[in-house]
Amino acid sequence: MKITEISVVDLQVPSLPPRSQARRRSWIHDAARAFPISKYSEFVSTKQPVPGMDETPLWVRITVENGTWGLGCCGFGSVAQSMIERVYTPLLIGRDCIATEWLNDLMWRAIQRLGDAGHAVIAQSAIDLALWDLKGKLLQQPVYRLLGGPCRNTIPLYATTDDLDWALELGFSAFKISNPVHAESGTAGLNQLEDKVGLAREIVGPDADLMLNPVMAYDVTFAIQVAERLRPYRLRWLEEPLIPNDLRGHQELKRAVPWMPIATGEDHHGRHAFLKLIEARCVDVVQPDLCWCGGLSEALKIYTLAEAAGIPTSPHLAGSSAFGQHLALAMPQVILGEYWLASDPGVALHEVARIPGTATATNGTVTPTDAPGFGLEIKPEWIKPR
Ligand SMILES: [Mg+2]
Repeated sequence: MKITEISVVDLQVPSLPPRSQARRRSWIHDAARAFPISKYSEFVSTKQPVPGMDETPLWVRITVENGTWGLGCCGFGSVAQSMIERVYTPLLIGRDCIATEWLNDLMWRAIQRLGDAGHAVIAQSAIDLALWDLKGKLLQQPVYRLLGGPCRNTIPLYATTDDLDWALELGFSAFKISNPVHAESGTAGLNQLEDKVGLAREIVGPDADLMLNPVMAYDVTFAIQVAERLRPYRLRWLEEPLIPNDLRGHQELKRAVPWMPIATGEDHHGRHAFLKLIEARCVDVVQPDLCWCGGLSEALKIYTLAEAAGIPTSPHLAGSSAFGQHLALAMPQVILGEYWLASDPGVALHEVARIPGTATATNGTVTPTDAPGFGLEIKPEWIKPR
């Protein structure tokens, strides 16, 4: 079945205000979350966002000869758009949409001169996900079946949130909290962090999985100090402490604090970035993001590299996005799905604005439907030119 059209689009999904009453504002409005740029004091709080970081996702619709279409999505929309329109669209028009592995190889080879990381790969993600959605619709199968799943009935989740009381009430038993401090915050930062993690451990109890998410805000020295200081709180993992390209730093950190599992990968793009991490044995959990790493085809290669090395995968946002849910339901070495919990406490999850057809968490688990493709329920009139 030949591809006849590839369009960059916006989804305008009508949303109703929630019926239930919020008890308070979500943590996301007020939490200080550190990023690498938080070295500079004007960027220490989420009230001063980093330009480009809050870009709305970009959607791609791919249509084939019989009129069937599939939808995919990637992050950092405006920058990705020109890659899709100028590189991938002319490359793929007229080709067989079912041959996802071939089309992935074509795209991967086409961008070697542009660099197989960054926006070239992020943009590839939207195309690849649309192709998988389309394949599922044409074959009338959910994507997790096309992948050889399901391997489980439901996906165990962890909640990414600082509203731990609300996450507990919703039935979650694994939690990841945000990190407020940058590498340059020194002893005061370590004290602030210990207070936060200590309180979180007290709230979730001694047996719950608890993780911390520095989002690349540390350097090796500070990450080692954090790991030592937080050892009594038994974190399940320390997530993305260092910038992606610092491979030596990851190795040094892993050697220095063998008791602290290191998870990373949401800002690594493409198979080779993960191959280096895995070969160097400096990561305990890999976390590709399906909308950033090159799509589902590339995520499957990353998963397989990790699986062969005995390293589990926990894809970024796998619990809250339909794309990640299908991978997580299908693949045995996915250990946990991440559920982004940043809606106001008190508001039922199914009332929170989301992409229709995406399953919501129940009691700390989530189960996608068996609808074809990724199961998204998007009406054609909601799809607008971008
Ligand atoms: Mg993260």
